[in-house]
Amino acid sequence: MIQLIKGFKDILPGEVELWQEIEKTARALFEDFGFKEIRIPIMERTELFAKSIGEDTDIVEKEMYTFPDRKGELITLRPEATASVCRSYIQHKLYAKDPVRKFYTIGPMFRRERPQKGRYRQFYQINAEIIGVDSPLADVELIFILLTLFSRLSVSDVAAHINSLGCPECRPEFKTALSGFLTSSSGNLCSDCVRRKDRNPLRVLDCKVPACRTAMTGAPSILDHLCPACNEHFEIVKGALKAINVPFTVDKKLVRGLDYYTRTTFEIQTGELGAQNAVAGGGRYDGLIKALGGPDTPATGFAIGFDRLAEIADLNRTDFAQTPDIYIAALGEKNRSLVFEWKCAWGLEGIKADMEFGDKSLKSQMKRAHRLGAKQVLIVGDNEIKQGAVILRDMTTKVQMSIPIEDVVEKIIERS
Ligand code: ATP
Ligand code: MG
Repeated sequence: MIQLIKGFKDILPGEVELWQEIEKTARALFEDFGFKEIRIPIMERTELFAKSIGEDTDIVEKEMYTFPDRKGELITLRPEATASVCRSYIQHKLYAKDPVRKFYTIGPMFRRERPQKGRYRQFYQINAEIIGVDSPLADVELIFILLTLFSRLSVSDVAAHINSLGCPECRPEFKTALSGFLTSSSGNLCSDCVRRKDRNPLRVLDCKVPACRTAMTGAPSILDHLCPACNEHFEIVKGALKAINVPFTVDKKLVRGLDYYTRTTFEIQTGELGAQNAVAGGGRYDGLIKALGGPDTPATGFAIGFDRLAEIADLNRTDFAQTPDIYIAALGEKNRSLVFEWKCAWGLEGIKADMEFGDKSLKSQMKRAHRLGAKQVLIVGDNEIKQGAVILRDMTTKVQMSIPIEDVVEKIIERS
């Protein structure tokens, strides 16, 4: 038996309806807020991710599925969506007509991490990006949309954590302060962090290893090093969140794992997921589009972990269980052909009909109707057809009645 690849999974009927409901809710919300869908490929040239995510990140260092294609060109299964959205924005010169764009995209991402609850190697994200706006209100709008989505999906235990990462003006000064601190505490850091502390000290703040977390307790705060412009930006974010009644916590250790993030950064955390407590993350990446060869364009966005969201969305799954409106039990080859015609025609009218294609007894057909949860069964046998009628059985009350063929559709609709 060939099994699926470790860290990958199937989303089966029974579970998939929940995913569809989440997706439907997210799409409707995005459309209401003026976001347009963009679909990007699941593979890109490796250099796109190396450049945008950053060489010393966990993702680029050890999580990417990268391989040479048949001509030897290095390609990567996308570990995230933002880099591709920006590539697309630049490549199609979307800025020429209107530099301000709001996009959303939903799809699979790939990271070769250690599989565990809430952590897969193929997982799904719901992404949103606002490109071309440097106002802090764009960040606030994203956080508002996230929390609205979670509330519509009855996810209650969520909290917004925010921070600012500064900009290329003020971050170097903070990095120096942080490096000084790290040098004095390097004995307690994991080997990755010992290496990162010189190349990219901010990464150490993001390390998940418990010893590193402890070692960082007294680390300097970026918020004490923001330049006046970044400070004002962050003050407006906090003020606007308060004005629209969004509760939040400032978390000075919150940094994103990606190099291109600037200023506002945020994460939505939940107490319902155990160790994998981040259900969404995002923030500004004002430097990315220029770094990828496009015009100097500010941008901000988020990614929701769809798998984690599906885990905590408290929707009543039985509400979207699909049952047929009618099950047609035909007896004999001739009647089977006849009801097959009906079934096809009814399908076009939105009547969900099901039937047995093979030659089965009435008893076994009734069993199947029951298993499918059909509300009504139409019994079509020679005797009935001779009289121009069929039998309609209500599966709940078990009451049967004979109805003329020409009234069948009307009766089904009336009772379904
Ligand atoms: P984490 O801290 O959990 O590793 P991350 O910082 O790597 O998350 P992002 O790159 O910001 O995550 O991705 C956004 C969201 O995607 C995360 O908040 C999380 O919900 C989800 N996510 C990330 N990696 C995985 C994974 N391997 N499996 C399932 N969901 C994931
Ligand atoms: Mg990660």
